[in-house]
Amino acid sequence: MSSFLRLIALVSLVLAPALAQPDARPIPTACPTLEATDSTARAALMQYICYYSASPGAPGHQATGPEQLPEDLQWVPANGWDLVFSHTKSVYWIHLNVKNSGPERGVWYLKLSYPLLDEVTIWQAGNDTTEMVVTGDQHPFETRPVDYRYFLLPVTLDGGETQSLTIRIHSSGALNVPLSFETAAEAIARSNHLTLTHGLLYGALLVFAAFNLLLFLSSGTGDYFYNAFYLAALGLFLFAMGGFANQYFWPDNASFANTSIPLSLSLCALAMILFGRSFLDVNRGTISETVLKAEAWSSIGLLALTLVLPYSKTILLNTVLTLTVISSLFVIAAVRWKQGYQPAVWYLLAWLVMLLAGLVYALAAFGHITDFLAREALMQSAVGGQIILLNYALVQRWRLLSQKLLDVEHDARAELEIKVHRRTAQLRDTMRELENANRQLSMMSLNDALTGLHNRRHLNTIFPELSAEARRNAQPLTLALVDADHFKTINDTWGHGFGDTCLQFLAEMLTRHVKRPRDVAIRFGGEEFALVLPGTDSAGALNVCTALLEDIASTTLLAPDGTEVTITLSGGIASLNPGETQSQLFDRADKALYRAKSEGRNRVLLAETAGIENTSGNQHLIHKDSGLAGSR
Ligand code: GH3
Ligand code: MG
Ligand code: MG
Repeated sequence: MSSFLRLIALVSLVLAPALAQPDARPIPTACPTLEATDSTARAALMQYICYYSASPGAPGHQATGPEQLPEDLQWVPANGWDLVFSHTKSVYWIHLNVKNSGPERGVWYLKLSYPLLDEVTIWQAGNDTTEMVVTGDQHPFETRPVDYRYFLLPVTLDGGETQSLTIRIHSSGALNVPLSFETAAEAIARSNHLTLTHGLLYGALLVFAAFNLLLFLSSGTGDYFYNAFYLAALGLFLFAMGGFANQYFWPDNASFANTSIPLSLSLCALAMILFGRSFLDVNRGTISETVLKAEAWSSIGLLALTLVLPYSKTILLNTVLTLTVISSLFVIAAVRWKQGYQPAVWYLLAWLVMLLAGLVYALAAFGHITDFLAREALMQSAVGGQIILLNYALVQRWRLLSQKLLDVEHDARAELEIKVHRRTAQLRDTMRELENANRQLSMMSLNDALTGLHNRRHLNTIFPELSAEARRNAQPLTLALVDADHFKTINDTWGHGFGDTCLQFLAEMLTRHVKRPRDVAIRFGGEEFALVLPGTDSAGALNVCTALLEDIASTTLLAPDGTEVTITLSGGIASLNPGETQSQLFDRADKALYRAKSEGRNRVLLAETAGIENTSGNQHLIHKDSGLAGSR
């Protein structure tokens, strides 16, 4: 904020002397006559000009023609200086004697290149005529002798003729009287060069404004609209300042021709504020926003005042307002840049250019800068530069916004991808766990927990396939059921824990004796086991069981109390008969087992082939006494 105040102070410092500029001119001498045919003399016109500043009350202030001026009027020679006066109430009288020494009649043009003068009256006193032209921007445009945005007066001189040209100028606002005396060719050539630069500037303004308006209509982004508004207001202001608006827009409305300048200036200020606020993304509730708001309302107020107050007052107020707006926007842009808002750099550059142009304009408006055309060219260059920089700044801002959008989109997509990955991994883990659980579950359902052997359910699952295969291949399929003898006694004597150990031992022995890959040992229930032997006939099964029983019977187990325990088994063997069902086969084997029990245990018997037990073919394979043998 303090830098803002400093800037305001600086601007006022620059402006202060301008307001009180004295008309300091060199010592008066005689007013020489210009030789119209001499181009060097024409180029040094200001050496031939005399003027007189008649302040209110002074002689000549009220005079309406040269004849009313006092005889002893003290004309002041310009001595080569441009005539530039700050805001005064004086009436200015300018005098030039011009002579055509040549033999031919010739036409020259007196050009006054400042279109904003209110009242310009010119008297041309020649050999025998005196002509008068009354013009100025307080008069309709048609009062001008030549249809041109500046004041152009044709001066026709006969061979040897001398004319006395007297100009009376009265104007509110700053008073510039940039004069030149040119031939038609010179006037046309200079006008052509200016036409080119003006055409380029206004063309660029118009194209940029239209383009930004189209961008706004298609995108709805306020920035573009404000920029278009600003370009249009700036274009109108420059057009009015250059005298074009008067010539083309309102040639018959002299009072509006004057008003249009401060009016377009306050529109410019308003547009600058709106564009700056939007472009710089000025946050609500900040000092910057408050300042811009106050300035916006001031420019709206001034816009209204411009229609009521006289030009001399409104132009001053508007100039001060515009400079304040430019300065404050410059400071706000700098603050935003410091806050890390990147597009502010380009805006700042654009505004730096405009600040310089604003100062140039202000200095000129208060009569501090002479050469009007040079000043106009400088303004035009500054405005052109600013337009390009501002539009570039808009592109930068658009790029930043779309980059931000892309970043957000990219982040969202990356986050989504990570989420999907995480979820997929979780799903895979869950699936694996589920698979394991399923495998375990099916193992558990098909295996016996105590012995690790397959259980009865497994037998029921595989048996139909095994029997079908046996039939198909005409291969034997034999079932052996074996049951521990007097097992209840073991439990009763040494407890269930030892009983379990015994069952595990039996399972181990079974597994060891059932060697073929396709043989299956099953815990059928309690202390009863089944051996399913595909491709093995009864005789083979008998061999297996005999070896198993002998092995078990010859192994001693150590009971918890130190007793050596021997277990015996009894078994029944049956081979699958053609057309026999599973239960019929099991029945036959069970019966053989039952028989083995009843015949004294510790033995294996073959079942009857036709379902009737074959007692004659029975083989007593175990020779020892059946039963549980224990010795301490
Ligand atoms: P037999 O010689 O007639 O077969 O007599 P046994 O005592 O072996 O026959 P019984 O059917 O009367 O008893 C079977 C016993 O097996 C009863 C039960 O205590 C025992 N048993 C069955 N399953 C288990 C088991 O999983 N663990 C233990 N420790 N004992 C079991
Ligand atoms: Mg038993
Ligand atoms: Mg039993």
